[in-house]
Amino acid sequence: MEKVHLDGYRNFRDKYFKDNEQLFDELAKGQKPHTILITCSDSRVAPTKILSAKAGELFIARNIGNIVPPYETTKGATQSAIEYAVNALKIENIVILGHSSCGACKHLYHEHSPEDEDVELSHVEEWLKLAYPAKNESMLEYLADKSKNLSEITEKNNVKLSLNRLMTYPYIIDGLENRTLKIHGWWYDIGTGVLESYNYATKNFEVVV
Ligand SMILES: [Zn+2]
Repeated sequence: MEKVHLDGYRNFRDKYFKDNEQLFDELAKGQKPHTILITCSDSRVAPTKILSAKAGELFIARNIGNIVPPYETTKGATQSAIEYAVNALKIENIVILGHSSCGACKHLYHEHSPEDEDVELSHVEEWLKLAYPAKNESMLEYLADKSKNLSEITEKNNVKLSLNRLMTYPYIIDGLENRTLKIHGWWYDIGTGVLESYNYATKNFEVVV
């Protein structure tokens, strides 16, 4: 594993870095990202690759389940990242990026992968309580129409929950009212590479074309 990573680094150093020396010279002086991306810690979600983003473009906050805690609860890493991005870096976009086969969303239903059976997960379980409203809404939707995919509904409702939670942050409301800030909810399908974006007008996730 170590060899893989160091070979990857050497490849970056000799190719990408060399080809972008001017960019890195600029970035050494400071950052001016346009977007904060809040996404899941899942290793299969690689935001800079999915968006073909250069270094310096995305300020990224990752946690289990791409959860935005309410503004009023304890001050944690995600709230700090949002606060810094909006108030200090003056970013223009907040993106919540959820994804298919999300283990965090599965865990809400006490479904376990082989690797998380019978292991200590008390911090994970406490953290995931923040996503219970998404689970509850998804169960009601699923009970009304069992042809729907419960995992996908939950992942998408979880993105919508995080979008709604952003509205508990006073400086985000200010940014939306002043039109200095936009918020977006996305869902990425790992198996197909398709990205869907939540449309507030139709209240549906729509494939990005
Ligand atoms: Zn996930």
